[in-house]
Amino acid sequence: MVLGIMVSKQCNFHCRHCMVDSSHEYSWIEDAVLEKFFEMLEYGCPDEVYILGGEPFLHINEIENMVARIQRYCRKIVIFTNGSFLMNQKLSDRVKALHVTIRISDDRFHREFWTNKFKEKLISSDYWVVSKDASEDMIPVGRAYEEFKHLKYNMGCSLLTGRYDKEFYPNAERYMVMMDGSVNLYCATIEGSLANVFEDKKITYDLLVEREKIFHNYLMKEVIHCQEDTYMGKMCNLCSKYKITEDAIFLNGKKVADTQDYRNFEV
Ligand code: SF4
Repeated sequence: MVLGIMVSKQCNFHCRHCMVDSSHEYSWIEDAVLEKFFEMLEYGCPDEVYILGGEPFLHINEIENMVARIQRYCRKIVIFTNGSFLMNQKLSDRVKALHVTIRISDDRFHREFWTNKFKEKLISSDYWVVSKDASEDMIPVGRAYEEFKHLKYNMGCSLLTGRYDKEFYPNAERYMVMMDGSVNLYCATIEGSLANVFEDKKITYDLLVEREKIFHNYLMKEVIHCQEDTYMGKMCNLCSKYKITEDAIFLNGKKVADTQDYRNFEV
């Protein structure tokens, strides 16, 4: 399982596909939510911890403290960044000293903010740069969703892959602690948060531990019942890999599960 945490909505970029509606204004997660996240870590170590923003490295002091604490429970930490820290040598040195995986996004939306100097820095860095070339479909969700929805993009669903497609997404069970303290299912494909898996329920440790039988069934029920005009509905209806009909779930035209099992499931 991957447990992620969104630490800030502050960003020095303003990508059109931004999922989190980032802005240049100061933003950092509340202590109470952070503590909740650490309590979850203490209880059960995930395979990986992801830290996302906004641009996390606008808050390097806080990130250093967080990483030191997370490393007591989990050795594999991935920080998602736009890479702009590379332009500042001191900051760059501090990021390097974290000894975590740095994942830099490279796609047509992020590139709108790149300078030539930045490109040089990026090319000479040895970080994990996740590139999507222009021909690849890049789903503009977030603030760009309205602009692009007529294109009817299709995409894969990691909600289902968590159970049926481990080959492709070994860590498809992704949960994200959002800044409001909700714990959301996080789609591995679109890298977007889909739904608060606990709705009004309190986040309990038991729910985390029982995730295989509770999360999955609960979430499946959510997907099956989601309305097109809800956020989750919008996102899940973009799915090409899996199709959910009234009766069944299909992968590449092949039935992989009945929806019936999920319909009446009560958490
Ligand atoms: S770099 Fe990331 S957080 Fe910042 S605007 Fe772009 S997508 Fe949003």
